[in-house]
Amino acid sequence: MGKLSIEEMRDFSHFSHEHPLELTNLWPQGHTVCSGCKMSIVAGKDYYTCKPCSYYLHSTCYNLPRLIQHPADPNHDLNLVPSASFDCKACGLRGSGFSYNCSFCLVHCHTYVPQCHSQKHTVFILTH
Ligand SMILES: [Zn+2]
Ligand SMILES: [Zn+2]
Ligand SMILES: [Zn+2]
Ligand SMILES: [Zn+2]
Repeated sequence: MGKLSIEEMRDFSHFSHEHPLELTNLWPQGHTVCSGCKMSIVAGKDYYTCKPCSYYLHSTCYNLPRLIQHPADPNHDLNLVPSASFDCKACGLRGSGFSYNCSFCLVHCHTYVPQCHSQKHTVFILTH
């Protein structure tokens, strides 16, 4: 007796943030962007948040696989990592937030531009 169940208080954790995250789809406070893709958080779509830190993640960004295979780096799997900024190997554009990275080859790719990490129609831009 007297043992309280806290099962309903589901916590979600993500490697990119040290605190447990809360799943919600209510309007966030003020203008908020996803830490994974730097795009706006909107109500009505599930997202994960750590309110004390004003940390937000779209559920799609939360659910990104940690490892992918990418034609930009056929020898290694790419790791999902938080990056301050990077140059995407697939489309040549600058990005920030999460990227897929090979730390040996210094390859980065967008996580949120499907063409940038799809195996099928990746267009490589040669930069010199
Ligand atoms: Zn996002
Ligand atoms: Zn936090
Ligand atoms: Zn890209
Ligand atoms: Zn590599």
